[in-house]
Amino acid sequence: MPRPTVARIDLDALKHNFRRARELAGTAHAMAVVKADGYGHGIRSVADALAPETSRFAVACIEEAMAIRDAGHRHSVVLLQGTHQQDDLAECEQSGFEPVLHSRQQLSWLGAGRSPRFWVKVNTGMNRLGFRPEELPEVMAGLEEAGLKHLAIGFVTNFACADDSDSEMTGLQTRIFERAVAPWPDLMRSVGNSAAHFRPNQPLYEWSRPGIMLYGASPMEGKTGAELGLCPAMTLQAPLITTRVVRAGESVGYGASWTASQDTRMGMVAIGYADGYPRHAGTGTPAAVRGQRIRLLGRVSMDMLAVDLSAVPEAREGDLVELWGKTVSVDEVAGYAGTIGYELLTGVTSRVPRVHE
Ligand SMILES: *Cc1c(COP(=O)(O)O)cnc(C)c1O
Repeated sequence: MPRPTVARIDLDALKHNFRRARELAGTAHAMAVVKADGYGHGIRSVADALAPETSRFAVACIEEAMAIRDAGHRHSVVLLQGTHQQDDLAECEQSGFEPVLHSRQQLSWLGAGRSPRFWVKVNTGMNRLGFRPEELPEVMAGLEEAGLKHLAIGFVTNFACADDSDSEMTGLQTRIFERAVAPWPDLMRSVGNSAAHFRPNQPLYEWSRPGIMLYGASPMEGKTGAELGLCPAMTLQAPLITTRVVRAGESVGYGASWTASQDTRMGMVAIGYADGYPRHAGTGTPAAVRGQRIRLLGRVSMDMLAVDLSAVPEAREGDLVELWGKTVSVDEVAGYAGTIGYELLTGVTSRVPRVHE
């Protein structure tokens, strides 16, 4: 029997969240972003669940796009990072993958063999990838000359600060983008990650790109997924494998970093940083057992961690502890660990089976 440490994936929550994205996207279509193994939820099951809801998926790289084909789905698949070598373009053409081309090198690979339909990345201020607005006329003229322009589907840009509702940068990037692509009104436009869906009056044009929100975690700084009408799709749970009373003055775990100020009933939970639970989550990080909130004690070990059971005296060996899920949000745990829900969800390791239900 395997240990009961599992990530339970609620497929109805995924569907609910996708519908919420679509509703917020208004007249824009939403492509489901399922990169990084469906943000750690299992790309195959996520694709199966969302296939009837969308006509486009988006992933980072070609291996992830292949996983969608292997699951039997014929949808268009956008490769957000484009291709890494020339040969990949023929593969894209054959398989119906749509790379987002962001560099002159990627453009130079087009046309040498069979060319796929593609998107063009515009750098509106994030300065990771893409062509500057002033380069677009030349880029588009080059495509026209090479007889490739008819393969262009649309323009893509990405926001640097959409999660910060006070930032003016998103409005600025939107205006830069709109102006930059205006000469090609026959091409589609795609600007919005999850956070953009929650910004009032933000244009999302033809295609939005919701990722993290589909999994129920929050894309907005200072807000939980639940506050945004999202439903957590992953519950990470592990069993209590022992309980004991540590006496006043005794310490728990590596570094003896937590010492009991009074006799305290505590338990050990079979999950640790080798499962992807963040080691930086210290004493006080919330978890839950029997639907009630408890807190971590001391340092997270590789395979286990300690919790304070004072708040739930009826908790017993064998009970399942929720590390994050519907009682304690992944966003909250991320806050305690000094990171974001994205990193925790994508960081759950392969030692933890995903159970889809
Ligand atoms: C990952 C990604 C998204 C989705 O972002 P979320 O914040 O998870 O919604 C959208 N666009 C691009 C280009 C991405 O790389």
